[in-house]
Amino acid sequence: MRNARARFSGVRAGAHSGAMDPYSIFADIIAGRAPASRVYEDDDVLAFMDIRPLTPGHLLVVPKVPARNLGELDPEIGGKLFKVGQRLAAALRASEVACDGVNFFLADGVTAGQEVFHVHLHVIPRTPGDGFGLRARPRTPPRADLDYLAGSIRGALRRRRA
Ligand code: AMP
Repeated sequence: MRNARARFSGVRAGAHSGAMDPYSIFADIIAGRAPASRVYEDDDVLAFMDIRPLTPGHLLVVPKVPARNLGELDPEIGGKLFKVGQRLAAALRASEVACDGVNFFLADGVTAGQEVFHVHLHVIPRTPGDGFGLRARPRTPPRADLDYLAGSIRGALRRRRA
């Protein structure tokens, strides 16, 4: 998530073809083969400092099992990422890190800005004027359009359950 602003305006900065690369630095970090400033660890999840923080204290929470994207991630472990993220958000607020608020961010896929192909949840401490933000142009579609897409997504949910 090197350039959140550029990415969300549709102009991806520093894009590369990581989607094709089976290697992930996070696998080496989990295995202890690469350095990391570790903050939390249990059987399923590891949290460490982002090496290029968007704000001071920026953390990453990763599953220990390899999963390149959300589709490959066991939902139980996905839930644990959020749970650990919640604990880390509270810890950030109680630590020496300047933290008036917290953003969670997860990039799933190249188009969403994913650069490392091992699922990870960003936990980003926020302070007023820190410069972090997502650029997008909200629209106000008619209710009929919202209802149509809601129906399409409901249908996809039903098909995946069946
Ligand atoms: P994303 O664009 O969501 O895939 O984010 C990947 C994140 O991983 C970026 O914020 C990078 O700064 C971070 N990152 C890449 N390599 C390392 C590393 N060796 N240690 C810690 N963070 C890293």
